[in-house]
Amino acid sequence: MAGPSCRQSRYIDDFMKAYSLFSLARNAMSYHRNWQRAWRSPDPKSKYDVVIIGGGGHGLATAYYLATQCGINNVAVIEKGWLGGGNTGRNTTIVRSNYLLDASAGMYEHAMKLWEGLSQELNYNVMFSQRGLLHLAHSVHDMQEIGRRGNAIHLNGIDSEFLTPEQVKEMLPIINLNCRYPVMGGLLQKRGGTARHDAVAWGYARGADAAGVDIIQNCEVRGVRVESNTVVGVETSRGFIGAGKVGSVAAGHSSVIAEMAGFKMPLECYPLQALVSEPIKPIIDCVVMSNGIHVYVSQSDKGELVVGSGSDAYNSYSQRGSFDLIEHTVGPLCELFPLFSRLRMLRQWAGIVDVTVDRSPILSKTPVKNLYFNCGWGTGGFKATPGSGHAFAHSIAAGEMNEIAAPFSIDRFNSGALIDEGAAAAVAH
Ligand SMILES: Cc1cc2nc3c(=O)[nH]c(=O)nc-3n(C[C@H](O)[C@H](O)[C@H](O)COP(=O)(O)OP(=O)(O)OC[C@H]3O[C@@H](n4cnc5c(N)ncnc54)[C@H](O)[C@@H]3O)c2cc1C
Repeated sequence: MAGPSCRQSRYIDDFMKAYSLFSLARNAMSYHRNWQRAWRSPDPKSKYDVVIIGGGGHGLATAYYLATQCGINNVAVIEKGWLGGGNTGRNTTIVRSNYLLDASAGMYEHAMKLWEGLSQELNYNVMFSQRGLLHLAHSVHDMQEIGRRGNAIHLNGIDSEFLTPEQVKEMLPIINLNCRYPVMGGLLQKRGGTARHDAVAWGYARGADAAGVDIIQNCEVRGVRVESNTVVGVETSRGFIGAGKVGSVAAGHSSVIAEMAGFKMPLECYPLQALVSEPIKPIIDCVVMSNGIHVYVSQSDKGELVVGSGSDAYNSYSQRGSFDLIEHTVGPLCELFPLFSRLRMLRQWAGIVDVTVDRSPILSKTPVKNLYFNCGWGTGGFKATPGSGHAFAHSIAAGEMNEIAAPFSIDRFNSGALIDEGAAAAVAH
């Protein structure tokens, strides 16, 4: 497997020149009206070596690494709406790698290392901000959970620190430690933080396009054509597109795509919602999460508080959440930070998250030859975007899941080798 940093291809060299100091100055002279489009909008070809279904962050990252690291640039990304219009553009942008189990540490820490160089890799500012991420503990059970997880994280060489309530207060002077379930301690990952989600999709899209990938928006996959148990292409709203291999990266619609190919995906889909407040001056300089009282919050660079909690209780494909969950989100937020009770919430939205029984993703071959699935990221896949795309691209190219992806095979639901991240995933995204 090639290393995480991109081999500079001819296309990438061209692309870097297009954003040189010289072109910046030249475009400034014409009031920035003459920039080339960041990616083309080509008509689909009749056949590609690889077709990726889904133009979210994971699909675009997969295409980018296929073209720049695996030598496969006859690739199309087929997106039914617009790039990043799914969960990629709807999440609360939290990035961390403090998961309990070895397989998860392998995937999320791989992603973290890629995040740390991603703006340079893509020549696009993804606004990755390692401002630190603090998990609060409110009960003996919470303390045991962060204790066990913190130690496991250390054993995997990932940074984490235990904080006393006094240290939590020092970090967050406005916190109310004596809320209904008092804060007993915290687990801090200093390398955790946030990134700008749209920029991640756009950066990968621009890089993939520059490397020769066709990005086809407003094109819905409506069928998967299978002959002799081998995928041969996809039926789309713009006609049939042939493919040597197909990677489905359709998040909340993955089970719909699986059904088109004639098998079932062990996923349940729920709305997951988030809210943002009116912008205020900087007040919280880390991400704060509480599984115990069920809320998490960070502050965007614009000053808005970005707030989330759990998923809705019912299955749905509608991208709107229920009212009761808004109350369950705002209530604990005000309990932890009474000051915020005076803030107005500006926007609320939801995405459809694809949840597995063990709260870990699926990166896998399927019963259909040359058809691969990357899904099941549920409430926490944004942070994995670079690692997931990188591992999936190399796996598709090789025809076998690589060592990072292999534990996340669909076979685990038969063998029982589950990767239970229920506690690390909980409300924490
Ligand atoms: C409110 C909310 C908050 C979240 N917060 C966090 C967080 O803080 N941190 C974190 O790590 N994760 C978070 N997540 C989860 C994270 O957003 C997702 O796991 C991740 O973005 C999934 O990326 P993706 O590229 O797989 O999916 P998506 O971005 O959803 O992309 C899938 C794409 O497939 C397309 N598609 C579907 N069906 C078809 C079809 N038939 N034909 C063509 N295209 C199709 C869709 O239009 C979509 O664009 C959150 C999710 C939500 C909803």
